[in-house]
Amino acid sequence: MPVPKRKNSRQRRDKRFANKGLTVQSITECLNCKEALMPHSACKACGFYKGKKVLVSKEDRSIKRDENKKQQEAKMAKAAPADAPVPADVDAEKK
Ligand SMILES: [Zn+2]
Repeated sequence: MPVPKRKNSRQRRDKRFANKGLTVQSITECLNCKEALMPHSACKACGFYKGKKVLVSKEDRSIKRDENKKQQEAKMAKAAPADAPVPADVDAEKK
């Protein structure tokens, strides 16, 4: 009966089991933008999960900010029309 010439080292033995814990990561695609993503997670590209918007993206915030800015400007324009005379310096009024 063949017998191993010498004992396997711990390193040699343990290398056999080194890849035992590895699993292939499953990947799905976003229903909204077809971006690849992990299952049961919200899409980081468009912020959708199961067809609903759940995350606010940087782009969304920027759009919202622009809208707010425009509203604010419209409000200011209404309060003080552009063709109204600009009040002079406070120092000039005193003299
Ligand atoms: Zn997406």
